[in-house]
Amino acid sequence: MEILTENSKETKKAGLTLAKKIKQTIAEKALVIALEGELGAGKTTFLQGFSQGLGIREKVLSPTFVVFRKYALSSPWQAFYHFDCYRIQEAKELLTLGWEEIIANPKNIVAVEWAERVSQVLPEETITLKFTFINETTRKIEAF
Ligand code: ADP
Ligand code: MG
Repeated sequence: MEILTENSKETKKAGLTLAKKIKQTIAEKALVIALEGELGAGKTTFLQGFSQGLGIREKVLSPTFVVFRKYALSSPWQAFYHFDCYRIQEAKELLTLGWEEIIANPKNIVAVEWAERVSQVLPEETITLKFTFINETTRKIEAF
């Protein structure tokens, strides 16, 4: 799948749509979404719509200094984890943050910005979204 968005509102909308679909899914492990793409490509903007679609009222900001933030979700889900791996040097740094437990819990939804930096520790079933800056207002979002 591939879409072009012409402004940040459309990118948020794409995030919201994905969240609404994903909420219905029940899996055996956490749902993991990997977001790849350069600074300003729209990863955080997408996750603002996504978190809204999950029913999170707080505005999701890039957790640049803390690696991840955790938000409560309503049943049957438990938590949404928003990771930003911009400052991560090695994938195994995630393991010291309880990564294995987080992704093993089927009640978690996990989104990872700069996922290309930690690809070795992402589960096989990860949904990968690649964001590309086309011009000032246009972004391409591809799903793999
Ligand atoms: P990232 O998290 O990938 O670094 P952000 O979502 O934080 O990117 O930033 C994207 C920036 O680009 C925002 O300032 C946003 O307003 C702007 N922007 C312009 N057009 C778009 C678009 N089509 N989709 C998403 N963001 C856009
Ligand atoms: Mg970001």
